Amino acid sequence: MKKYQQLINGALVDSHSNQFIEVENPYTGEIMAHAPQGDEVDAQLALDAAQNAQDAWAAQPAIVRAQALKKMANVIRENRIELANILASEQAKVLPLAQIEIDFTADYFDYYAGWARIYEGEIIQSDRPKENMLLFRQPMGVVVGICPWNFPFFVMARKVAPALLTGNTIVIKPSSETPATTLEFAKHVAGLDLPAGIVNFTSGRGSTLGEKLVRSPITAMVTLTGSVEAGTRIIEGTAENITKCSLELGGKAPAIVCADADLDLAVKAVVASRVIFSGQVCNCAERLYVENSIADEFTEKLVAAMKAVTYDSPFADPAPDMSCQVSHSQLEKIEAMVDLARKEGAEVLCGGKRPDMKTGYFYAPTVLGNCKQDFDVVRNEVFGPVLPVLTFNDLDEAIALANDCEFGLTSSIYTANINKAFEAINRLKFGETYVNRENFEAMQGFHAGWRKSGIGGADGKHGLYEYLQTHVAYIQY
Ligand code: NAP
Repeated sequence: MKKYQQLINGALVDSHSNQFIEVENPYTGEIMAHAPQGDEVDAQLALDAAQNAQDAWAAQPAIVRAQALKKMANVIRENRIELANILASEQAKVLPLAQIEIDFTADYFDYYAGWARIYEGEIIQSDRPKENMLLFRQPMGVVVGICPWNFPFFVMARKVAPALLTGNTIVIKPSSETPATTLEFAKHVAGLDLPAGIVNFTSGRGSTLGEKLVRSPITAMVTLTGSVEAGTRIIEGTAENITKCSLELGGKAPAIVCADADLDLAVKAVVASRVIFSGQVCNCAERLYVENSIADEFTEKLVAAMKAVTYDSPFADPAPDMSCQVSHSQLEKIEAMVDLARKEGAEVLCGGKRPDMKTGYFYAPTVLGNCKQDFDVVRNEVFGPVLPVLTFNDLDEAIALANDCEFGLTSSIYTANINKAFEAINRLKFGETYVNRENFEAMQGFHAGWRKSGIGGADGKHGLYEYLQTHVAYIQY
């Protein structure tokens, strides 16, 4: 069994508490690794290291800082197979998808390294003669990055890459559910000969180590990807020091299928979106609105496609469409939501139970018919392979139902009519809308949720600017 350490101030260290978190392989049920259960002392050491390193790091030209990102990309590529195996094991992510996450993460570091010569300040016209106004973009200082369990490796890079490139230093806290891949990477980072303290990988619970990182006056910015509950805690924790927070939280993505859509394409995309990583993806179709005139035909095709979804070990060959849920508690949560939907009047069109598997926290791909807008399963994030189906009469109604939601992360529409597509794009109140494709964002885009899905966002130019503050100089000559 692997025993991991934290990376603090350039050195691999055990936790101050000397306690460990057991990392479970959710498919086998075995404990596959021990991760440090860092406490407040570890948090303070990491913050101090990041603070001490920050001025010198910010003083380096951006192109020099970019070298650190390139080194990280390279070390990920050199260890891509091992990292993917750990990722697939610690969270039951099917191996090809785990490999995509690892490779995409390396590309992500390279992508932001490329911004070194691109991001700029501004020269603003002054109201006074013989004066220049210069707007500088400068680093925040010490950033704390708190990661979820569902894309633990990629989300780590989504925080580390833009933070370091812009001259911040960073302390990362992975989810205590899935810390292994990140801590394996930390081992490799320790060998990269980077300035001590610029990037620190801690490990521990959100309620102790996490709270300390968030509430510290050293922390200039907290970036969290996680649940609305954790987001609320971060807002409370950062209030005391008026610390900036960037929050990427849950979603409840609507998928709208119009009668003129290519129905086979829509079925394929919606099913792929709903079952990828066993439905545990923030931006994937969580509720389906189908135009009345095609509802029966579409639902029939949908149920057939969901019944055909394969599930097995994350390492099975050929790879199944999905594996099991990340934990027993997630499985129980999904089960409880489907049971409640049944009581509220939903009809289980397929699935609706744990399948007969020898091992793993499996929930069968499920379609729920007869759903109403006020059902819990339509209003709240399931985070499992469960799709409630509702119907609509016209586009106005579909848009109103889609917008009637506390979350505003992503949305999608399937139609052959460009006017309908633009009408929807202009009226859907979500950070992203996908037309005739499944939900997935690009690194050069901007992933940002409306309403309870978050504050701020990640990726691309706008994601980079999250890590910079402005400084205006007025210069008389
Ligand atoms: P979570 O339970 O909220 O945990 C996220 C992280 O926050 C974990 O590292 C957790 O630590 C930490 N945390 C919890 N309470 C904290 C506190 N008081 N102070 C500091 N840190 C704290 O979320 P999750 O279950 O890992 O992830 C699933 C959720 O993330 C879903 O809602 C999903 O939609 C969302 N998500 C959103 C996006 C997006 O881009 N918008 C992307 C991926 C996932 P512990 O692990 O120790 O509890």
